[in-house]
Amino acid sequence: MVEQLSIELQQVVVEADRFLEEQIYPRQAQLEASEAVSETLIKEIIDASKKAGFFYKTQPVEYGGSPASSLELTVLREIWSKANSRLTGYLFGPGPGILHHARGRLKEHYLDPVMKGEKRGAFGFTEPDKSDRPTWARLSGDQLIINGQKSYVTGGATADFLSILVNVEHPDASKAGTAMVVVDREAEGVVLEKSFRSMEGGGHSSFLFEDVCVPRTQIIGELGEGLPRALANIGNVRLMIAAQATGMCLWSLSFIEEHLRAPHRSGSPLGDKEGVRLRYADMRIKTFAARSALFRTARIVDSGENSVNEVIAAKVFCTETAGEVIDMAVQLVGGQALVEGHPLENLYRRVRSLRLVEGANDLLRINLVKGRLELNKGTV
Ligand SMILES: Cc1cc2nc3c(=O)[nH]c(=O)nc-3n(C[C@H](O)[C@H](O)[C@H](O)COP(=O)(O)OP(=O)(O)OC[C@H]3O[C@@H](n4cnc5c(N)ncnc54)[C@H](O)[C@@H]3O)c2cc1C
Repeated sequence: MVEQLSIELQQVVVEADRFLEEQIYPRQAQLEASEAVSETLIKEIIDASKKAGFFYKTQPVEYGGSPASSLELTVLREIWSKANSRLTGYLFGPGPGILHHARGRLKEHYLDPVMKGEKRGAFGFTEPDKSDRPTWARLSGDQLIINGQKSYVTGGATADFLSILVNVEHPDASKAGTAMVVVDREAEGVVLEKSFRSMEGGGHSSFLFEDVCVPRTQIIGELGEGLPRALANIGNVRLMIAAQATGMCLWSLSFIEEHLRAPHRSGSPLGDKEGVRLRYADMRIKTFAARSALFRTARIVDSGENSVNEVIAAKVFCTETAGEVIDMAVQLVGGQALVEGHPLENLYRRVRSLRLVEGANDLLRINLVKGRLELNKGTV
């Protein structure tokens, strides 16, 4: 249990652990490693989560939600992750994400249906390595004409719409600023170029935009706010990734503890060997440090202080720590850990992507130092 939690939060932890025992582990036990999660199973889990109240904790009050504090969400996200189950991905309801504060048509056609679970959006930010020009939009009266390419859109093939970052220019090609623009996936000129899978199991697509014409009202917020809009919600997402990472560490610690206590062909459990104990101690020390950073950061976020640099630090540190901890876990289990279908084989593949998503860690490092040297922000 995380220390210094209020009585209410301690109760949430107890309920979350009970929820895993009663709703998730039994269903997980019946699911083959390679089996897709059926729509019926997803619905069952969502219904159970709604009944327990977890589903609503990521949703705004105006959509019937009861939004939790950053600390509570972080505690819960770590607990879901330590279950090491694909099923916990359905426990929180959809949040507004980049569409937060959307008004008018954007609210009616996109935000409201997203919050009801009737539509799903995907996020297009990353450009292909070979692009000679980032995706751009030319203003033409009340319209935007979009051209370019996005190379890594998670869930893009099945999304109803894409929120993409574009560089907007005036009709005379002079710069007008960046914008996040909502484009229907089936709009004319949106070409699904390729779909692919990444090693952690995610499905992604690349898209071409060929003279895609959308009304100017599809801009989220104001023209010129593209990058800040794209990054506005990213602090939450980065903290979520940090919590997923420490949850993975916790799962690995208990898995290895059991392994070290079990009989071993050498005649005594591996846990009796001092060299092995040293490795396990490192796993625990690193996890302790990462969790300390994580929960301190969640509390700073809740305090309302500027927390951009702390969230970056937590994302980088927790994801890299999880990489080290899981690597050590694989080492201590030996060859069996790499056999397809072994939970550590799966975890090893999943942890790698955390250092790239929502900002490659080295770019985050550069931003953190920029925040310090140029804006005098960030605590240690
Ligand atoms: C599982 C997964 C899901 C993803 N989902 C999405 C999504 O939904 N939408 C989306 O838009 N993108 C998505 N991405 C893409 C992801 O955001 C990018 O892979 C990531 O931002 C890195 O960008 P890049 O791949 O273009 O690499 P590059 O930008 O080419 O960088 C490659 C490496 O070069 C180094 N580097 C680059 N620039 C610098 C610099 N200025 N200084 C120092 N080092 C540098 C870093 O080590 C970096 O990791 C996803 C990626 C993964 C793995």
